[in-house]
Parts: sequence; C-alpha cells; structure tokens
Amino acid sequence: MSHFISFNQQVALLATMHQKEQVIAPILHRELGLTVHVPTQFNSDRFGTFTREIPRPGQQLETARLKAQAVLAEEDVMIALASEGSFGPHPSLPWLACDRELVFLLDHRHQLELVGQAISTDTNYAQQRVTHPDEAQTFAEKVGFPEHGLVIRPAPEQNDPLWKGVTDPDQLQDCVQTLLQQQGSACLETDMRAMYNPTRLQVIGKATEDLVRKVRQTCPNCNWPGFDVVRRNAGLPCEWCGQPTLGVLQQIYRCQSCSHEVIEKYPEGRETNDPSQCSYCNP
Ligand SMILES: [Zn+2]
Ligand SMILES: [Zn+2]
Repeated sequence: MSHFISFNQQVALLATMHQKEQVIAPILHRELGLTVHVPTQFNSDRFGTFTREIPRPGQQLETARLKAQAVLAEEDVMIALASEGSFGPHPSLPWLACDRELVFLLDHRHQLELVGQAISTDTNYAQQRVTHPDEAQTFAEKVGFPEHGLVIRPAPEQNDPLWKGVTDPDQLQDCVQTLLQQQGSACLETDMRAMYNPTRLQVIGKATEDLVRKVRQTCPNCNWPGFDVVRRNAGLPCEWCGQPTLGVLQQIYRCQSCSHEVIEKYPEGRETNDPSQCSYCNP
C-alpha cells in the first residue's frame, strides 16, 4: 500500500492568537504549498499562557494536540496546526536557559500527526526582582527591550501580572515606579508570547522547518510521512579494547503507518568511541 500525502493547495488553520503565523505561514507555503490562515475566533489562552493567569494543561505536545483538535472541531477545515513553547534550563547544559519549540500538524484526511521541534539557547527568557529604576533599566536592556516585551508583577509567585506586553519605555518606568512606591520592589520578566518576542519567533521558524523535514521524510515501504527515529541503542565499541560503551551504535526508524523499520548503524558518523568514554579503559 502506498500513501503519497500532499499538502499542496491545501488550507490549514493555525491555533494561535499571538501572531505565530508571521513565521509559520511563509515557510509552509513556500516549502509545501500549504496555505495557513488563523481562525477569526480562537481563544488559545484557554489552553494556558506564558503569563501564567491560566494553568497549562498537560505537557507541551498534549497541549498542541488539544489546540489542533479544537480547531478541527470548531472550524470547517481538514488540517490544523498548533505551536507550543517551553522555557527553562537546557536539558544537557542546565546553566543555560533554553527555548524548546514544537509545531504540530494534525491532518484529519489521513489521521496523520507530525511534530517539528527545535531547541535553542538563543532566548531572552529571564526574571528579576528590582528595587531601583536603574536596575529595571539594566534588565530591560539585557533582554532586548523594547523590541521584546516585558511582564511586570508585584511578586514572582503572584500569578496575575499587573502589566504585560509592555514595550513602551515610559510605561515601563511608570509601572516600576508605581510598584516601588507601593511595596519597595517590582518583578520583571520577559514576555514569552510570540508577538512580543522576536527571538522566540525565530525558534518557532526552526521548528517549522523541522516539520517540513518530517513531511518529506517518508517511509521507504509505504511513503507515509514522519518516518523518524524512535529508538537509539548504545554499544558503540571502544577504539582501544572493543568493549561496548554508552555511545550510540545504531538508531531505529519506524513508520507510524505500516511499522516498517530501518536500522541505521553509526548514526554519529564514527564506528568506535573514544577510550575516555570506556568504562574498562577509563574506569
Ligand atoms: Zn576500552
Ligand atoms: Zn510505512
């Protein structure tokens, strides 16, 4: 059985109210011929927001899936897109902040789900409590204000921000002054909503390009898209003693549709591991 799935001349709706279409739509139109629109009445904030007024349900992928399913249920369209970001310490470089973006495609015609991802340390994600207007100014400059927006709260644990999407230097100073007079300090943080964060938009663009790669990565047996790595096996032999190490020996691609598997040996381009990584040679 062969599925050749095309998105050319199709229309998708993107579940966003934060102008993510600015970056997602041109890439998908250029690369796949897919036209992306935004629903006129879609409140994506009910699924959780970065400014924390509404708790985020479930994990990143589950949230994206819920948004895309809501679009398919509410709108007369067969293809839905959703994008989710999360911010925090980098998984392998925990001293660096990182932005993990995911762009999710749900195609009701074929019951197909595809996920593009990007992880980047290029983010301005930061918070700071300030007790002086100059400190606020320094923080603002460091995080790329006013091109990047700010959120201002009385206290970090306070979920209701007093101001968000602040991009006007005078408003920033007024807000900070108000809080300093009231309580002696103010909590500033970067506004991570896409339209207030051009750096984040760029990472969403990279995740969109990864989605395009997933569309093109098709199963050699049945042409189903999203033919992707599902498992990596350790056991790369040590260069000196030949004993297996924790280095990746092979990775396994699997088709979501027909379960066809392809094993790729030495995916990192080397057939032995450095003896410094060997528990016999370097215990
Ligand atoms: Zn060894
Ligand atoms: Zn297949």
